[in-house]
Amino acid sequence: MATQTVNKDAISNLSFVLNKPGDVTFEERPKPTIADPNDVLVAVNYTGICGSDVHYWVHGAIGDFVVKDPMVLGHESAGTIVEVGSAVKHLKAGDRVALEPGYPCRRCAFCRAGKYNLCPDMVFAATPPYHGTLTGLWAAPADFCYKLPDNVSLQEGALIEPLAVAVHIVKQAQILPGQSVVVLGAGPVGLLCAAVAKAYGASKVVSVDIVQSKLDFAKSFCSTHTYVSQRISPEENAKAIKELADLPIGADAVIDASGAEPSIQAGINVVRVGGTYVQGGMGKPDITFPILAMCIKEITVRGSFRYGAGDYELAVELVRSGRVDVKKLISSVVSFKQAEEAFQKVKTGQVIKILIAGPNEKV
Ligand SMILES: [Zn+2]
Ligand SMILES: [Zn+2]
Repeated sequence: MATQTVNKDAISNLSFVLNKPGDVTFEERPKPTIADPNDVLVAVNYTGICGSDVHYWVHGAIGDFVVKDPMVLGHESAGTIVEVGSAVKHLKAGDRVALEPGYPCRRCAFCRAGKYNLCPDMVFAATPPYHGTLTGLWAAPADFCYKLPDNVSLQEGALIEPLAVAVHIVKQAQILPGQSVVVLGAGPVGLLCAAVAKAYGASKVVSVDIVQSKLDFAKSFCSTHTYVSQRISPEENAKAIKELADLPIGADAVIDASGAEPSIQAGINVVRVGGTYVQGGMGKPDITFPILAMCIKEITVRGSFRYGAGDYELAVELVRSGRVDVKKLISSVVSFKQAEEAFQKVKTGQVIKILIAGPNEKV
């Protein structure tokens, strides 16, 4: 693949800015510069839209993170290196990279323990008060930019972020070869969790959702079984899932990628005695939880937040080796000027993943 060097001065830094809920504008913002010898400047080529971006756009807040000042949206991006700081050794202008969009302090107890996703001083793109990557030029520490192998496109590169989320969730589930996994929710992260679980050697991967079309896609993508959740009790849904996938004692691991209360309740009921349950989806902050079942089945319950050491590298490798075909998730690619329409499409559930081209990219 030909590398091209980009002229920094010719690059627009047009950005997609959220002013307040529902109010977005395009703004030519000042270009970032290399502030540290270990930084690089990246021209953003493609950005995927995440549920969290849509949530900020609609509600202006997620929990304690409240958009008080105008904020550039977006955090699922791939781009081309334009300039490198004097200390950067492994990247050069023209390299194509996936951007890991959160920068930890590197000094706190969590960072030093290798759990940097738990850093209390994380600077994360498009999480207020920090700007996101729906912009022309992005400055980043070079070690949070992952060079894309020649056979991985920049569009696939924009999918590395949600894939890294799935990698982290599946690591938390500690799936072993031959095991059975139930994934609740067949949105992008649920689909990617199912695919990663399969890459980890799971022999049964059951996708569960309330929307049949999403499950049809899951079946074509990676799932061995699919189940449409019914309006029955969580115990009855769990029983039906076990029958459908021939899991008489339940699943070895259950991943919830929906955040929905009935899913979580069904998930705890479908996991086997001594199995593992991972909460990946974020929904209501508080729910009714089947804690007795968790106790008497001695279930290991884990949370999962963003991604940490090794997750981006593994995500890139899963795409390079063809074990997770992220291209299939891309419903469409639109120009930067169509960013608001793209958000609308994600909100109304018309697409799996839509990519927004960078402002300097021709579509
Ligand atoms: Zn995301
Ligand atoms: Zn830290």
